[in-house]
Amino acid sequence: MDDQQITIARNYLVGSRGRLVLDAMPYRGAAQVLTVDEADPRIPVYVGDSASGGTALATGTATSIGRVSTAAGTDQKLASVMELASAAGFATGVVSSTSITDATPAAFVAHIDQRYCQGPSSMELVDKTHPQYSTNCSKDYKSRGGRGSVAEQIAESGLDLILGGGLRDFDQPVEQGSGTTVLDLARQNGFSIIRNRSDLASIRGQDRTIGLFSDGIMPVKLRGSGGAIAEFVQREDGRVLWPEPFACEDNPEFADVPTLAEMTGAALRRLDGPRGFVLMVESASIDDQAHYWRTCGHIGEVGQLDEALALALDYAATHPETLILVTADHGHAAQLIPETSELAPQEHASPGRFARIRTPEGGIMGVNYSTNDSPDWEEHSGVQVPVYAAGPGVRALPPFMHQVDVFGIMLKHLGLGTGTAGTH
Ligand SMILES: [Zn+2]
Repeated sequence: MDDQQITIARNYLVGSRGRLVLDAMPYRGAAQVLTVDEADPRIPVYVGDSASGGTALATGTATSIGRVSTAAGTDQKLASVMELASAAGFATGVVSSTSITDATPAAFVAHIDQRYCQGPSSMELVDKTHPQYSTNCSKDYKSRGGRGSVAEQIAESGLDLILGGGLRDFDQPVEQGSGTTVLDLARQNGFSIIRNRSDLASIRGQDRTIGLFSDGIMPVKLRGSGGAIAEFVQREDGRVLWPEPFACEDNPEFADVPTLAEMTGAALRRLDGPRGFVLMVESASIDDQAHYWRTCGHIGEVGQLDEALALALDYAATHPETLILVTADHGHAAQLIPETSELAPQEHASPGRFARIRTPEGGIMGVNYSTNDSPDWEEHSGVQVPVYAAGPGVRALPPFMHQVDVFGIMLKHLGLGTGTAGTH
């Protein structure tokens, strides 16, 4: 999530004169994203992914693309804020609208060098069409003394609450030839498993719960009218054919799953208590929808983030010792550009995919994606990401920081560190 994403969502959801809940946060700064080269960690890589970004936030250490809370080059395990907080007696929880084995939530719970080793059956995958999804985590099999897949690590973790998608990574045998599933492993470790939106209300007391509400990524809130997404601009006899504007509509699949705010509310009720807690909440599909040119999708997911934030701020209003941080793991491709060209609209149009979104306030918003010309997906951007904060001491935070510094801010608030950054 970056300023483009936030502006696009604001224009649609509350109008260009309106304000999101985010906009009322008393601190607003920026964080430089730090990612490093795997072969030579002294060399920066200027565009990161959710694994490197999640690791920077969760552990305070910059790592290479694809790594989940392990160090570039050495594969050393990096302690996460959840592990440090749990060891110090805080309650801990993770909520995400993607598979809870996906890179960002995984970075707060697990340690592996390849993010797509999400379940036991994903430890050795060959994907010839998309080699970036191929995995070889054979050295991490538990039978070889490793920590196992991300799902197995979550099942054996000390967290109190984990809610999101990703049932398919848990509803499978733990390793080849074994009859025990990852769900069994989680139950043996003291977790209750819930799968339905209505089960959220039953979480109580000291129960440790894993909630899995969809097989993979959870359905998103909004989609383009009739499923419309951004497309390459067509031409006829060399003349630009500007695409028809479309509005957003509710995604019917979304009705069956809990909203990010409902999961956040359940987490706040469960984790609240004298011990104090750390909770990470991710509106994951801001990213996923932008990868697939689904403008209304990422608009709706920024809206989901805003609704979850409103609940967190309500909680903090009666628990003033609460620190709330809102940030992102990396920026994205979506850009807000003129809805037709200011130059020569008959001749020149965006070379990338383009959507014209009809906003409720009567305008038309042009949104472009042009990091590559592949039919598969759009890539990330390396732009600095926003950091918003509310709570004790936030007005003293510097206006500019590095992404790894967010970890130090969390540790300082928890009384677990000096507040200085981890290893750059
Ligand atoms: Zn992404």
